[in-house]
Amino acid sequence: MSFSNSALAIALLLAGLVAWSFGEYVLHRFVMHEMRGRGMPSREHLVHHADPERNIGRPVLSWIGIAVVGAVLFLAPGLFLLGPSTGWATYAGWLLGYGIYQQIHNRAHSHGPRTAYGVCVRRNHFFHHHGHPMLNHGVTSPVWDKVFGTYAEAGRLRIPRRHAPNWLLDGDGKVRPEHAAYYEVVGSADPSDRMAAIDRARAFANLTLVAG
Ligand SMILES: [Zn+2]
Ligand SMILES: [Zn+2]
Repeated sequence: MSFSNSALAIALLLAGLVAWSFGEYVLHRFVMHEMRGRGMPSREHLVHHADPERNIGRPVLSWIGIAVVGAVLFLAPGLFLLGPSTGWATYAGWLLGYGIYQQIHNRAHSHGPRTAYGVCVRRNHFFHHHGHPMLNHGVTSPVWDKVFGTYAEAGRLRIPRRHAPNWLLDGDGKVRPEHAAYYEVVGSADPSDRMAAIDRARAFANLTLVAG
């Protein structure tokens, strides 16, 4: 198949983006959390859960993994069944979706929100980290959590102080007033070795981190 019409190319790219959105949910829930540290993707992700603000992940490794999964899902059938152009267009959408996801996830941890969407992304994702790691797996969108019954409203979150993102606190260590309706920080800021070991054990058991 060749593209005589660019609308088809755009439709396939969008299909790849939607496929990524579903993949974001499935990979996060089943490959990373349900596996409880078995296999590198799960281990890498649960290390992120053990210290979310300092262990954001290894981007090169993640890109390789996602590129390989996408190649198997889209390039191979595209080349052998549906035509190379179909495969490449959906693969491009898949990779674009992953790039957008990675940017949104990293910024959720490193920068405060600037839009209403940014507020929702952070509340939803910080609920996943500090409310319930087996809920709210979608980062860019809650749609698949709603479809599969793993969505919960974030409510007001209690975050252990040593895991509070920098953007949440002012110079005195207080929650900035614009975030006070949604977040409070509890416990000590001291990241001791003992607490780090507890954090790791709890993260690998899909439990929330506790205040020290
Ligand atoms: Zn995260
Ligand atoms: Zn997670």
